[in-house]
Formats: sequence, structure tokens, C-alpha cells
Amino acid sequence: MARTDVFFTDRKTESSYNMLDKLEHVFTELGLDKVIQSGNKVMIKTHMGLHGNTNHLRPVYVSKLVDLVKSAGGIPFVSDTCSLGYGNARPYGGRTTAPEYLARAIKNGFSQGTLGAPIVIADGYWGCDTHNVSIDGKHIKSVPIPAALLDCDVVLVLTHSKFHHTGLASTLKNLGVGLVGKGGKLAVHCPTGIEIEADKCLGSDCSKCIDVCPTRCITITDTVSIDWDHCKQCGHCASICSGVVKAGAIKMTWSGKDMGERIVENALGVVNSIGSEKFYYFNLAIDISDMCDCVCYGAPLLMHDVGIFGSTDPVAIDHATREAMTEMHPNRDSPAVEKLNELLTKSDVFFDHGVSIGLGTKDYELKLLKR
Ligand code: SF4
Ligand code: SF4
Repeated sequence: MARTDVFFTDRKTESSYNMLDKLEHVFTELGLDKVIQSGNKVMIKTHMGLHGNTNHLRPVYVSKLVDLVKSAGGIPFVSDTCSLGYGNARPYGGRTTAPEYLARAIKNGFSQGTLGAPIVIADGYWGCDTHNVSIDGKHIKSVPIPAALLDCDVVLVLTHSKFHHTGLASTLKNLGVGLVGKGGKLAVHCPTGIEIEADKCLGSDCSKCIDVCPTRCITITDTVSIDWDHCKQCGHCASICSGVVKAGAIKMTWSGKDMGERIVENALGVVNSIGSEKFYYFNLAIDISDMCDCVCYGAPLLMHDVGIFGSTDPVAIDHATREAMTEMHPNRDSPAVEKLNELLTKSDVFFDHGVSIGLGTKDYELKLLKR
């Protein structure tokens, strides 16, 4: 298969060719039934949704890939990473440690029983079990790679394609936010990193930030100091100090600045970590709203379902997905419909920057699959 093919099957279904059959069709066209060798360790990277988010991918799509990997002789595991910061607070909380995430996943129907394979939170209990990979990005020079990725022979990136405020939230975001440790997520969302205003610290009578620091690199005397050489930039201390204690001595400042470019630079670090040839991408452009699956609600849908895409190129598959979404009739009843054109257009930053850093191409051939 040429590296720039993007396979596509639309949303039309019938009893003998349903969405699971179509997912298998894409899997086969990608050659995965032959690529996956006996005993290969295969990560199926997906997102299992936040509690209350009702738009995330149904577990049955994941279990279908699990079955296909097993049929090919591989050893599958289902994986995602912890979310940024610490704690259960809405709207983004509930996935900030591995146990939190696994508890949420079960409520959303994802378990070893339903999937047929173990769920492994790839960056460990704290979201900090990572290995740094160097890149020469415009913004990012080092990407924390989840340890579980490093042992994989094949990675199937199964993505729910929808939007978030920077545009298309699809494969590139699943790589550049979803498959990096917390330090990588901080570099995307809070480019200034962890900041200290030591004079606001309440001192050793508080010390609540120390309990959640995975590397125990915080020292509290009359005030706070951090041993930056051992800091993972996980944001736990900032969540507690600014969000719970409300002292504001440690903080992380959210910013959308250069977010799209930062995401694709992280994605480059991810694929470089074990080699881009090990990654295969599936976009399920269904249940498409203006919000990603990291929020605790399912936003009203913006358009009719599009279908399933498959490729070995992360830029090409997302570009093809955006182009197809552009052709869809918008749902005029969606409260976000006025934002749709802007969301479609601003997605260009992902593709243009992805091409400029060598992550992928917009020069692909769309191959329509029919049964
Ligand atoms: S949580 Fe904040 S106020 Fe409390 S000890 Fe830590 S830095 Fe100081
Ligand atoms: S000091 Fe660094 S490693 Fe420790 S909790 Fe804060 S951000 Fe995480």
C-alpha cells in the first residue's frame, strides 16, 4: 500500500455490511491482517470518554479491533493516558490518575470483559511514567512518551473525529495530546509551564501539594520551592494549590497560543519514538459535535455521521476527514452551528504545520471502499 492512501467507507449500512464490517474492511485494506505477526504487541490507542460524555466511541468498535488483532496473531491491549492535573472536578476531571480513569472507563462500558483485552493506562498511575524524546520543533524540543508505547510492535490509533476549540479533534490530537505524558499536555495547554509565586504559600502547615507530587520534588519551609530537575510538569501541585487550597502559590496558566502547532509537534515526537511505520490510523467521523470527549457532557451534534477513514499517514487522514466534513450538511439545530465554518477552517494549522515538520502529507489519494 502506498504511504499516502486514505481509505474511506461512508456511513450507509445494511445487515450484511454494518459499521463493524466496515471497520474490518478498512483494517484489511491497510494490510493489517498481514502486517501483524504472531506474538506482536499491539496497542489500540483510543479515548474512553469522560463520565457524562455520551458522544465518545462505543466500546464495540474497540472490541472489533481487538478481535481482528487476535485473529492476525497479535496480542492486543487497549490504551490511553491520564489527563492533565489532579482531581475529579468538572468539566475535565476524572481521568487524572490511572485508577480514576479505569473507574470512569468501566462506567462508559470499557473493561477487559467488554473489550476482550486488558486496558493499560500507558503513562502509569500518575501519568508521569514517560521517556523523553527530543525533537527540533518550533515550540517543543522534548516530548514525554508514555512508557507502554515503547514496547509496541504495532499501534492502532482509533480516533473519534469531532471538533474542539482549536478545530478538528482527530488523529493528530489523539497523538499529540492523547499519547503523551502530562508534561506534554502541559506544553500544549499551558506553554509557560508550572509557575511559582512563593510569597503566597501558606507554609508547612499546609503542605498539601507534596502529597500529590509524583517525584516528591517540592520542598516547603516558610514557603515553596521546586527541584526543577526532577519536576515532571504534571500540574498536580498547581491543581491542589490553586484549585483546592486556593492559595495560588503554584499555578499553571491555560493558553490557546500556538496550540495547534504544539499538538502536531508532540505528535511528531510520538511517532518518532518507535518509528512512524508502526502506526496505523482509523478515524470514525460519527457523533460529531464541537466538543472533544474530554468534557463531561455530550454536546449536540453538528452534522450527520460521515463514515470511517483509514491511513498510515496522520496528516493525510485528518485532512481527508476535514474535507469530507466540509461537504456535509450542518445540523441547523445545533447551538454551535454558527461556529462550524470557523472550526473547519482553523483546522488548517494542523495540516500545514504537520507537513512543514515532516509528520505527513496532504498529497494523498482517497480510495472509496465498497463491499
Ligand atoms: S499547596 Fe500551595 S499553599 Fe499549600 S504548601 Fe503547597 S504551595 Fe504552599
Ligand atoms: S512539582 Fe512538578 S512533578 Fe511535582 S506535582 Fe508539581 S508539576 Fe508535578
